[in-house]
Amino acid sequence: MSLPHSHEIIETAQRVGLGNYRPAPLVVASGHGCYLRDTEGREYLDLTAGNAVTAVGHAHPRVTEAIARQAAAVLHTSNLFHNEPSVRFAQELTRRTPFDRVFLCNSGAEANETLIKLARRHHHRLGDTARTRIVAATGGFHGRTMGALTLTGRDVYKVGMGPLLGGVHHVPYNDLNAMAEAVGPYTAAVVVEVVQAEAGIIVADDAYLRGLREVCDRNGALLFFDEVQTGYGRTGTFLAQEHSGVVPDACSLAKGIAAGFPMGAVAVREDLAGALPPGSHASTFGGNPVACAAALAVLDAMDDESMIENAAVRGAYLAARLAALAADPEIPALEARGKGLLRGLVLPDHLDPASVLDEFRERGVLLSRVGGQVLRFSPALNITLKELADGLDVVERTLRAALRR
Ligand code: PLP
Repeated sequence: MSLPHSHEIIETAQRVGLGNYRPAPLVVASGHGCYLRDTEGREYLDLTAGNAVTAVGHAHPRVTEAIARQAAAVLHTSNLFHNEPSVRFAQELTRRTPFDRVFLCNSGAEANETLIKLARRHHHRLGDTARTRIVAATGGFHGRTMGALTLTGRDVYKVGMGPLLGGVHHVPYNDLNAMAEAVGPYTAAVVVEVVQAEAGIIVADDAYLRGLREVCDRNGALLFFDEVQTGYGRTGTFLAQEHSGVVPDACSLAKGIAAGFPMGAVAVREDLAGALPPGSHASTFGGNPVACAAALAVLDAMDDESMIENAAVRGAYLAARLAALAADPEIPALEARGKGLLRGLVLPDHLDPASVLDEFRERGVLLSRVGGQVLRFSPALNITLKELADGLDVVERTLRAALRR
């Protein structure tokens, strides 16, 4: 079957889609490693990794083989029965993190919904039924379902969506005094990202994260980290929280977990184990054996190819190159920031990031934007030095040309 031309696909998408996305005029046909190919046969260096998802690159043979093998064995079992890949995967997660128990689901938002229910139900079980409030951070992003949307600290996502969940408050990020004032005897949990990614790659201070742990302990509240975007090696450690040494009571994961196969997880410490008794929470597709086989293959690939170490080393190179761009008066970039292979370059207000992204794409490099004026760099963790250097050369040339216009 010959592929329809990309313009036909784009036209059809505009007709039948709900209209809630604004994709670039590029129809992906295939991917390999850090490259994507479109239906016209053009190849692009993908520095987005599908919004920080395809951690081991596109079509990693270990992952595609594991998916095919498991799909041929059994596609779905439901949570009426056990399946080995989900048990093995949960065990792996407990082995690699300070957490003891795992709930498996399908997305980051669903993982964060689970955190909300877990917090409330935990205190309810202890008889502290008034402890239902949750404090999150201004600017934070936690997903689009109603609970996760309520946690999200940017009004732009909430327009016309109310009424939202009750009992959720937001305080400025990286401001420990504001958090200390907000947390009290009715606080069930504090939920923050370790790096606010969608807000524009804003990194939490280690002292802030340590302070959050103290504030929560002092007040009997739980501390949850949303590591949906930062987890899974992206910042050069398995979880981004490891940089600070702070261990929360639970954390949410998704994105890179199965490197493109839809999956999410919540990892919790032992004292939360009984907080969600049978019947209190579930997910039809949670722990799907194909997703878990993919997730196990992702971990194998990461180990065999030292991808987390690569993320740290390449991340340092990326940081240095972006800092040099930000320091160069000939280049319209204001600031570079981030951790590991999750980095942002802040553009000045007069530059339209959408047209800059179009120019990158025309020159064969894919990037995305977050927080309005920030270019997000989130390539696969196994990107080579040459691939990264080539991509940054295109970024540099494009931005230099933008200043001259
Ligand atoms: N939490 C964070 C930190 C995210 O970055 C995202 C997505 O970008 C989500 C939650 C939502 O994840 P999902 O789109 O899988 O529901």
